Amino acid sequence: MSKTLRLILGDQLNAQHSWFESKSNNTLYVMMEILPETNYVKHHIQKVVAFFLAMRSFSENRREEGHQIKYFQLDDEDNQQCFGRNLSALIQSEKIERFEYLLPDEYRLDKQLREFSKSLSIPSEAIDTEHFLTKRTELTNFFKGKKTYLLESFYRDMRRQYDIMMEDNEPLTGKWNYDAENRNKYDPKVPIPSPPLFEREVTDIVQALDKLKVKTIGRIQAKKFTWAVTREEALKTLDFFVEKCLVHFGTFQDSMHKDEPFLFHSRLSFALNAKILHPLEVVRKAISHWQAHQDKIDIAQVEGFVRQIIGWREYMRGVYWAKMPEYATKNYFGHTQKLPEFYWTGETKMNCLSQAINQSLDNAYAHHIQRLMITGNFALLAGIDPDEVDAWYLGIYIDAIEWVEITNTRGMSQFADGGIVGTKPYTSSANYIDKMSNYCKNCFYDKKEKTTENACPFNSLYWNFYDRHRDKLSKNARIGMAYRNLDRMKPDDKANLLEKAKQYLENLDKL
Ligand code: FAD
Ligand code: SF4
Repeated sequence: MSKTLRLILGDQLNAQHSWFESKSNNTLYVMMEILPETNYVKHHIQKVVAFFLAMRSFSENRREEGHQIKYFQLDDEDNQQCFGRNLSALIQSEKIERFEYLLPDEYRLDKQLREFSKSLSIPSEAIDTEHFLTKRTELTNFFKGKKTYLLESFYRDMRRQYDIMMEDNEPLTGKWNYDAENRNKYDPKVPIPSPPLFEREVTDIVQALDKLKVKTIGRIQAKKFTWAVTREEALKTLDFFVEKCLVHFGTFQDSMHKDEPFLFHSRLSFALNAKILHPLEVVRKAISHWQAHQDKIDIAQVEGFVRQIIGWREYMRGVYWAKMPEYATKNYFGHTQKLPEFYWTGETKMNCLSQAINQSLDNAYAHHIQRLMITGNFALLAGIDPDEVDAWYLGIYIDAIEWVEITNTRGMSQFADGGIVGTKPYTSSANYIDKMSNYCKNCFYDKKEKTTENACPFNSLYWNFYDRHRDKLSKNARIGMAYRNLDRMKPDDKANLLEKAKQYLENLDKL
């Protein structure tokens, strides 16, 4: 029988994959930690550690089940730090006659592995990861001929296809979407439960990264790495979420709080993106918990959660495969400013940015609204080059893998795709930030002021953004109000506002 080599990438940790249904002495699995993967962007130290821990425990578990696995640790002597070179060496030394790999979710790796396979003299095949609910091209076909890809129609189709919260092909409660009910400020009277933490020692990984001079960002406590990286831990985190957080998930989904980085969010994105958890098992667990506790948990909570996973997550992946590689070059507004230094240090007088960035540096995590309406909003208003914004988001978050990072960042948050993902840019002045958080209370800047010395930068930058992009945005029906307000301003007020924005834009690093 011919001997097969099967490659598993770091974000393909699906223990339920059909590959593992049977064992064979003629199948050798290979996993590797290599420098090009740690260095293609400057990653948060916790992100690299999380992937290595997850990969190592996945390989150990498969080995214990009786599968043959070759695992290259980053500092192993025989590690040639390259997929192609490590694979070729194994093909030769193990007399491999067939090569298989799981379809990568990143364009970069997809291309690399296709080219590697073509260069081989043995047969090769790419196999589905059996993780996503849609095929790569499904969204392209769904929206054929459309300029804007409306999430809502795709989401409804997913609900129907997978029979999720449906009755007779109609939404269970007669309504598809409860988004309007998910916009409350956090009420400190509602206690936030403490999530399960999985403390482990990670000194050896941190030392190996140092030894190989891998540059990282962010902070880590060597003995207190607490993210869920195994299936068992991920399932515990899921149980915790449905039992303790789901009840308030939708209500406080968009709120932000200076002392509460996680609020009622699930913290499941790493486990989902590394494929440790399957999206259907996650939504089914949430739905069955809701069904058993309908007296306590409102449908808006569970619908909001389900929409993120079977809607947004699948949708973003579909956009990625429909639009790459051009998507990575999109810059609709022609923004060219450099990302301010404080994105890397958290040192800024703007309390909202300081909180969101420092939480990110501490935890490799910020929740959706912090990413969209604080760091993303500011980068957009300040006209930062989307390449720099992308590199920051791709590096800093534990869950950042290009297919979901770039579509959220370049698309949803920077509108650099000119309106494929969103119908209008997500922007706001201090008003929205104050409505949804407790950041403004302790800020150096004054949320109410627009042009005075310590006026909140968001207020003038907001109007400057709409003023400078009038040609691109004024015809968008969803933004009409902003232009009507801008045009109603007294000429002197408007000039002062734009002058204030100019001063801030010239001194971004000092804000
Ligand atoms: P919860 O709030 O508990 O949501 C549950 C799950 O829904 C998440 O785990 C995630 O799998 C899914 N989800 C929610 N929103 C989205 C979304 N917009 N797109 C795709 N899936 C979603 N998510 C990533 O997984 N990786 C990224 O690199 C990433 N980059 C982002 C960049 C920006 C600028 C923005 C605005 C959002 C980004 N998101 C990204 C989406 C979202 O912020 C994270 O998925 C979420 O914060 C993860 O935390 P959680 O698991 O606690 O999520
Ligand atoms: Fe942010 Fe402005 Fe509020 Fe300060 S006042 S926290 S800068 S929105």
